[in-house]
Parts: sequence; structure tokens; C-alpha cells
Amino acid sequence: MEGDDLLESSGIAIIRGITGEKGVIVVRAMGKEELTDEELAERTNLKVNIVRSILYKLHDHGLATYRRERDKKTGWYIYYWRLTIDRLKDVILQRKRLVIKNLKERLEYELGSKFFFCPCNGKRYTYEEALEHNFSCPDCSGVMLEIDNSRIIEALKSQIEKLEKELSSEENQ
Ligand SMILES: [Zn+2]
Repeated sequence: MEGDDLLESSGIAIIRGITGEKGVIVVRAMGKEELTDEELAERTNLKVNIVRSILYKLHDHGLATYRRERDKKTGWYIYYWRLTIDRLKDVILQRKRLVIKNLKERLEYELGSKFFFCPCNGKRYTYEEALEHNFSCPDCSGVMLEIDNSRIIEALKSQIEKLEKELSSEENQ
């Protein structure tokens, strides 16, 4: 998978989640280059300490790495940073697998029960909960109505199918 494509798609959302919008700016400025925090600060017009904290966050998530060299004049270490895009691909795939797992659990839940609601407040009850209340709304005593969740089920199924297709093509790249 091309690093650029990756950054344009789900990668950006993940980076935004980890580092916020400024992190996205830093990551875009880095691309595939190896840069020092100061060079990045210059490129992005962000303060060096902000750039540094973004880089450490990325590093904590395995999305950036550095090597250091001692500056012969000052004796201080200079850190050269670069992104580890392959790792980002793993993170994206892992998240996608998790999303699919959650959607499947939700689908099972939707398939596994009938649901009821009362128009007075729209609160949703499982069959068991509705039975406990004798299908009468605890808030207004009105009769609960059965929810037709077939559209939710269809939407879940098609979302799962779409993500599974994406996942299997991404896993083979
Ligand atoms: Zn009610």
C-alpha cells in the first residue's frame, strides 16, 4: 500500500484521534522524510515543544521512530524522526477488524430479540424488558409497539459486508 494513499484515508482519522489536528499537520509535513523536531517546527509553524509532544505520542503508538546523533559542536543529541507507515497499516487493519467484530455483535443482538418502544419518549425495550412491564410503558402506561428493526439489520449486514471486502483486499496488499 502506498504511504500517501494510506495517509489520505483512514490513516488521517487515526492520527487525528491520537494527536489532534496539529498532529495531522505534522504528519503531512513529514511525509516519508527523516526530519528533526526543529525542522518540523519550521515547516509547520508550530512550536517545537508541540511538535515534540506530537512526535512522542506517535512514537507511543508505534507510528514514528527516531535515531539520534550527538551534535559534535554542542554535545547535545539531535533526534531524526520519521513515520513508520507500515505500522499505521497494521493499526488501521486492527481497528477495522474491531469495528467488524462490534458490528457483528450488534447484528446478533438485533437478530436475537424483538424490540419494543413507546411513542411518548421513544425508549427502546428488549422483549424481556417489555414483558416485565406487560408491554405497557412505565412512563405513560401506553401500549408498547413492536419495532421493525429489519432496516437496521439490513444496514448492519451491508456495512459488515463492505468492511470485510475492504479488509480482505487490504490484508492482501
Ligand atoms: Zn409511554
